[in-house]
Amino acid sequence: MPLLFHSTNGQSPDVNLRDALLIGQAPDRGLYLPREFPKLTHHDLAGFAKLPYHAIAFEVLRRFTGGIIDDEALEELCRDAYAYAVPLEPVRGLDRVCVLRLDQGPTLSFKDFAARMMARLIGRFVRENGQTLTILTATSGDTGSAVASAFHGVEGIRAIVLFPLGEVSARQRKQMTTLRENIRTLAIDGKFDDCQALVRRAFADPALKRIPLSSANSINIGRLLPQSVYYFYAAARLAQPGEPIVFAVPSGNFGDMMGAIIAGQMGLPIKRLVVPVNGNDEFPRFLATGRYDKIEPSRACLSNAMNVGHPSNLARLVAVYGGQMDETGRINFAPDMAALRRDLFSTGVSDEQTRATIQQAWTDHELLLEPHGAVGWRGFLDYVPTEPLNGSPAVVLETAHPAKFPEEIEKILGFTPTVPPALAALDKLAEDYDRLAVNYAAFRDYLSERHAAG
Ligand SMILES: *Cc1c(COP(=O)(O)O)cnc(C)c1O
Repeated sequence: MPLLFHSTNGQSPDVNLRDALLIGQAPDRGLYLPREFPKLTHHDLAGFAKLPYHAIAFEVLRRFTGGIIDDEALEELCRDAYAYAVPLEPVRGLDRVCVLRLDQGPTLSFKDFAARMMARLIGRFVRENGQTLTILTATSGDTGSAVASAFHGVEGIRAIVLFPLGEVSARQRKQMTTLRENIRTLAIDGKFDDCQALVRRAFADPALKRIPLSSANSINIGRLLPQSVYYFYAAARLAQPGEPIVFAVPSGNFGDMMGAIIAGQMGLPIKRLVVPVNGNDEFPRFLATGRYDKIEPSRACLSNAMNVGHPSNLARLVAVYGGQMDETGRINFAPDMAALRRDLFSTGVSDEQTRATIQQAWTDHELLLEPHGAVGWRGFLDYVPTEPLNGSPAVVLETAHPAKFPEEIEKILGFTPTVPPALAALDKLAEDYDRLAVNYAAFRDYLSERHAAG
């Protein structure tokens, strides 16, 4: 019997993994979560210590794919998706503290981990169904490039990526706009939230029902399940089996942190989940007060992939803690705030602090961080005095490659990070993208025209 997924809004029928991935957002505008989390035993976790990344991915994901994909096929998908390094770098001068560099995939951000697996799963389901599917995604920077790269050339898929014209760096943009073929990029004269709102409206629009649409945003559960894997991987390498570990995860839309929550629900012992944000600090304020006020419009910060004023995955976090939040951010039942405060620590990190942290990490530990990782590191430093580590292992996630932010790092540290060849090659490629104002009717016409064009 395949595992079932339910909607956080509670008004849609349960679905299996295939449907959850293909639909993306539930018809009642809620987000899918497993009805029950599969459990891993201490014995399973102990076994991970000797396994390479792709094998841990297989062991974790097969708990979700049973009855949908056979094990051999899944193992092959994992091998193919995760053919790059996942360095766990000890921090100089600190005992059992590591930075997990999730920046070695083809687009140099952690989003490759999820996008590559999800594209392979969706590609497989689409081939089984013989349909053509349009993947619609809004990006604040790195999602778009990871999704575009992951779906590039996948048969039966057309991907349309929306990005806020003024809020992504030139390199982030070129990673999306130079691919062509089955990938279209659409620059919106607005903010990330405008892009996300256009996409959400399209999904709910009866006039677009005839176009098979799915989402590759972290509203898709297919994005979250693969993001639980690196928490198991890091723990298996740094902690004793069963030993609680601290994770610090720089957060925007809270998909990455939901990976840790899923790992925790599956049995990974987590001492504390530190989830720092940038100037978009609606979450730490919610955690402190129990009152949720989204930030509209979201604030443009240095860590641009985290400029989210209303993280869609909060609805999932609230659901895991027994509450209910709808897609507008309204809390219909309060979650267990005491449990949330016991398990999580969050803080807002300003741009000024982010820059100072890049400097400090380099001076103190020769640790090279880019703005997102610096928010994570700063949050970790703010957390430690509140609950001394006492020898517990801790892992801070670096979610992007420093070479994606050469100007900022040059300004702060006086040198530019070495650019990986794939990124350097982009500078010579020609770009191609469409442009639209924040106007839903125009966006709907655009989708209809692209669909008609085949
Ligand atoms: C997307 C992104 C984040 C934030 O991840 P969420 O899942 O949205 O919280 C952090 N860092 C980088 C580099 C990103 O691309």
